[in-house]
Amino acid sequence: MANVQLSNLRKVYPNGHVAVADASIDIADGELLVLVGPSGCGKSTLLRMIAGLESISSGTLRIGDRVVNDVAPKDRDIAMVFQSYALYPHMSVAENLAFGLKLRGHDKAAVAARVQDAAKVLELDALLDRKPGQLSGGQRQRVALGRALVRQPQVFLLDEPLSNLDAKLRAGMRVEIARLHQRLGTTMVYVTHDQIEAMTLGQRIVVLKDGEIQQVDTPMALYERPANLFVATFLGSPAMNVLTGTLLQEDGLRLRLDDGTSFALPDGADLPADAVGKRWHLGVRPEDLHRTDAGDAHFTPVVDVVEPVGSEAFANLRHGAQDLVVRLSPRDLPSPGSTLPLRIDPVRMHFFDVDTGLATRV
Ligand code: ADP
Repeated sequence: MANVQLSNLRKVYPNGHVAVADASIDIADGELLVLVGPSGCGKSTLLRMIAGLESISSGTLRIGDRVVNDVAPKDRDIAMVFQSYALYPHMSVAENLAFGLKLRGHDKAAVAARVQDAAKVLELDALLDRKPGQLSGGQRQRVALGRALVRQPQVFLLDEPLSNLDAKLRAGMRVEIARLHQRLGTTMVYVTHDQIEAMTLGQRIVVLKDGEIQQVDTPMALYERPANLFVATFLGSPAMNVLTGTLLQEDGLRLRLDDGTSFALPDGADLPADAVGKRWHLGVRPEDLHRTDAGDAHFTPVVDVVEPVGSEAFANLRHGAQDLVVRLSPRDLPSPGSTLPLRIDPVRMHFFDVDTGLATRV
């Protein structure tokens, strides 16, 4: 097992495109780190640089104590799992698992023992004689994981390994990967564009945008203290509500939007001393707006559409020209067209600078 240290890693493709600008991350020995961001943000490039499949334009990459910038992929002691599992169709599961080890010249008994171990961990014992064509998608993905597992690498690199699976299988495999990591304790770097996968799997998450690291932290820290508007709106489903307007002190704190709509804000917001009179993005998550009595409300939007999802419900609301989403208990839902008095949780308000997008508190 090993830690992985990225120091000022940069990747410029031959056409001049900067795919990764300046990435510095210390990945602890045994950590499961997720790289997440929208398509094209540079997460696969970063993973492939760790794997040795892309050259490093500048910066230093260490695996354990070794600088590996110029070490060939096969000598980095890593194993990679891809989205397309590319199993050999004419080989059985056991042969697929053993193939890489045989190529590397491991003796027969050692190969057999490692295949048995991996098959046990991934519950593939009963499938060892089958060909890939006789497996379900989830089973094939388990074999692909098994191929990485038998290598007993220092570091696992996983590039969107679950994207080809349907939603239910994906949720199941997510749990299997988390379990596998708990059992092996091997360092894993996991790339996904799926924020739910990132939140549920990652011990820490790196959020990327346009080749730049936006924030690195634990899932809940990112959710509760996003460093900027991008992280705030990228993580969370439904997304954080964002209201943009001028902060005023008129009979209490208010945010006046450009359309003239006005929101009373609770006392207790954590704001810079000179915040009043300036424009801000105010972010409030759907679960941080609470139903209340008319006399007690900060604002009273009109209910547009209500979406119950079983354990909870989401209501789409309008206040002037502003759309908002609020999370509600599914037991007592308001009717479309009715008004819904709401309070804003004062300690759950996020203010972002309108020019830089940076949060006032992190
Ligand atoms: P992600 O995995 O986040 O979707 P990638 O790391 O694959 O993103 O790509 C990051 C950026 O680099 C994208 O804009 C992509 O178009 C660009 N890119 C990827 N490969 C190359 C290449 N070989 N040459 C030039 N640009 C590339």
